[in-house]
Amino acid sequence: MTIHAAFDALPLGSVRPAGWLRRQLQIQADGLTGHIEEIWADLGPESGWLGGPGESWERGPYYLDGLVPLAHLLDDDALVQKAQKWIEWMLQSQRPDGQFGPVHNDDWWPRMVAAKVLQQHAEATGDERVLPFLERYFAHQLRELPGRPLHDWAAARAAENVLALAWVHERAPRDEWIELAELLFSQGPDWDHAFSDGLITGRAMTFDHRTHGPNVAMALKNPAVRALMLGGDAHEPTQRSLANLDRWHGQVHGLFSGDEWLAGREANRGVETCQVVEYMFTMQIAARVTGRSDYSDLLEGAAYNLLPASSDPSMVAHQYHQQANQIEASTADRDWSYSTNGANVFGFEPHFGCCTANYHQGWPKLVAALWMRRGDDLAVTAYGPSRVEAEVGGGRLVVDEITDYPFDETITFRVVASTTTAPTGLLLRIPDWARDAEITVAGETQDATPGDTGYVTLTRQWAEGDEVALRLPMTPRRVRRERQAVGVRVGPLVMVATPGEYWRPVPEARGMGEWEVFPQRSWNQALWADAPVPLEEWTVNRSPVGEVPFARTDVPLRVHAIGIRDLSEWKRDGASASHPVDGPAPARWTNAIDLVPYGTARLRIAEFPTVRPVIGAKVPPDFTG
Ligand SMILES: [Zn+2]
Repeated sequence: MTIHAAFDALPLGSVRPAGWLRRQLQIQADGLTGHIEEIWADLGPESGWLGGPGESWERGPYYLDGLVPLAHLLDDDALVQKAQKWIEWMLQSQRPDGQFGPVHNDDWWPRMVAAKVLQQHAEATGDERVLPFLERYFAHQLRELPGRPLHDWAAARAAENVLALAWVHERAPRDEWIELAELLFSQGPDWDHAFSDGLITGRAMTFDHRTHGPNVAMALKNPAVRALMLGGDAHEPTQRSLANLDRWHGQVHGLFSGDEWLAGREANRGVETCQVVEYMFTMQIAARVTGRSDYSDLLEGAAYNLLPASSDPSMVAHQYHQQANQIEASTADRDWSYSTNGANVFGFEPHFGCCTANYHQGWPKLVAALWMRRGDDLAVTAYGPSRVEAEVGGGRLVVDEITDYPFDETITFRVVASTTTAPTGLLLRIPDWARDAEITVAGETQDATPGDTGYVTLTRQWAEGDEVALRLPMTPRRVRRERQAVGVRVGPLVMVATPGEYWRPVPEARGMGEWEVFPQRSWNQALWADAPVPLEEWTVNRSPVGEVPFARTDVPLRVHAIGIRDLSEWKRDGASASHPVDGPAPARWTNAIDLVPYGTARLRIAEFPTVRPVIGAKVPPDFTG
């Protein structure tokens, strides 16, 4: 075995989006992703990645890292054509020494992204030029790096380089690639120390690569990538790093803060969109290498909450920073650790254009990584409506995953075609939050107790028409925060209260528009988590997922909650909410409050102060128990 991973990634194109996920990808294609080249000079014909004199650093490769999988997953010829000219330029740009890319920028960093782009292209199209091209490039790196080492961004992100190298090593192993992997890691920072004794315990106010949000999100994959190439355990060191980050910077939704440097635990700190998509990619790699469900739980948490929240519902505009408690998206004064005011407006290039170039990878890479394989078994590592086609069990297996997950708790797998000649395992992940999961195969109940990696394996010789139903009961769960504050989860969804949204267009905005968003009513909502009918027993109401899955209207899932809609002692801190007041705060009355999914609410409260009604306060009858 040349690489060490519990699961193999399926080649791009093996997993296709269906249902609401297909609509979401189409929304992205119709939104900024499908138009950005005509709008943004940095991705126009002058780009250095098309041989022009323009932007020659990360923006071209970042964009393609999302455009290439989006184009192939949607089978969209126009998007494939759009991507193809960049691919052709990259492939013909290689010099005799193996170096490629813009001549006037020799930074190693953007080439790490470009290598991942070419690999996705090769998987989707079978282009045989890519492997020898990358072999020549990595041989060049092995010769050059001792004299011209990784520095700055490239050093911080060395794991991305090794990950791209692992793709080559998997297909054409060489001892030199092990040597190169060790060399690359040796030129990066000591991330194990940065995530343990070296971890800052509050807001970082001075730049350091090791406290930069997207760098941190990328570097969490260091143990997994090291294990992939060099062997060893990835799980324990990754868990340790995640726990330390959560202790000092963990947010109510499960990610860590970064605005754009690590910024502590308060719910008014920012999270950068690059950080969200890079964290998702890291979790896909960790899920693959370790074969453990923990990382898929975290992947879904980011993908089904922070990712949709980072854009407007039609994906023409995005934020640079989002806040868990976000009561206004505007150009007003903020005290981000680094970024400028206006970083949380929805626009074309709020604060800085990295996210404008990089957000494209979020949805398509999620779809591509929903399914993986383990020898002759297929593993569903994250759930979402999709179809998988794979060569397993001596034949071909095609399975539809029919579901409105994460908005619904039932997932049906239907075998559409099977030419398998041997039994094949279907690995179903049981998320850590799921209690009393149920599995039926052809109507018969099966044991749904997961093994210690979090999966249940169903082994059969699958035939066309076979059906497996998985039910993951989703009841509200409580996330405890400082000051007796709480967050609410339902399955992978983070539930929030919304103050309504007024979208004010910014005149003469660039791109496809820019908006400030203001609340329509009081935002300072609090929950009575320990009502006679407590948080864990609140009613969940479901309805079909709308045409635009993360629109503010037609919300597919709601929790009927109780609390108070205007906790007057909880005040603004400028344009942000101050930290939740000490709870439980006395309340003289109570209100019913509807909670909606985080991803549908661009203004929201996700971390709630708790209240306790004073004796004699009126309580609605459905909460009296
Ligand atoms: Zn960014």
